[in-house]
Amino acid sequence: MKKVYFCQWCGSATKQDIPDGDDKSRAICTSCGKVTYQNPKMVTGCLVEHDDKVLLCKRKIPPSYGLWTLPAGYMEMGESAVEGATRETWEEAGAEVEVMSPFAQLDIPLIGQTYIIFRARLKTPQFSPGPESIECRLFALDEIPFDSLAFSSMLVTLNLYIEDLKAGKLSFHYGTINKRPGTGPSDIHSYTLDDHLRC
Ligand SMILES: [Zn+2]
Repeated sequence: MKKVYFCQWCGSATKQDIPDGDDKSRAICTSCGKVTYQNPKMVTGCLVEHDDKVLLCKRKIPPSYGLWTLPAGYMEMGESAVEGATRETWEEAGAEVEVMSPFAQLDIPLIGQTYIIFRARLKTPQFSPGPESIECRLFALDEIPFDSLAFSSMLVTLNLYIEDLKAGKLSFHYGTINKRPGTGPSDIHSYTLDDHLRC
């Protein structure tokens, strides 16, 4: 976790200490005394289905430039997860979608992120890469570029989706993605999916 060196309210220097009544070390302002809490961020996105294919975007921005992802990004203040997923799909893939159901919530404790991925369908059969994408494409399930996916979260999501379709029943999945010790962020295959729940 990145350290916070300056108070987000008054800009003075912070010190790391355990606030009264707390049990974790936090950045505490040396001037106004306020505590800066760091909490996980929510990433929201869409698994867009069309003609038995799924929509992927090739990233034009770091990290994972040139690798494929579902359209997804950080939720903004003032929007819901569904609104965020719809917006990200519009921004990254130029696709207008209707969200159908939640598909997966995947926590990645190591990096403080939670992904929520919705199944969605195209309102019109049109899409085109936005400024953050090199290319957007519909992939049949046996064409998905598993060797050049951008993130573990997308690998897990697509694997669960394919397993569900093979089993003939789509579920909602919760799971925790734990990276194996000693692996870097670019090694998306070195993880375990723990606490996997489905309904
Ligand atoms: Zn302060």
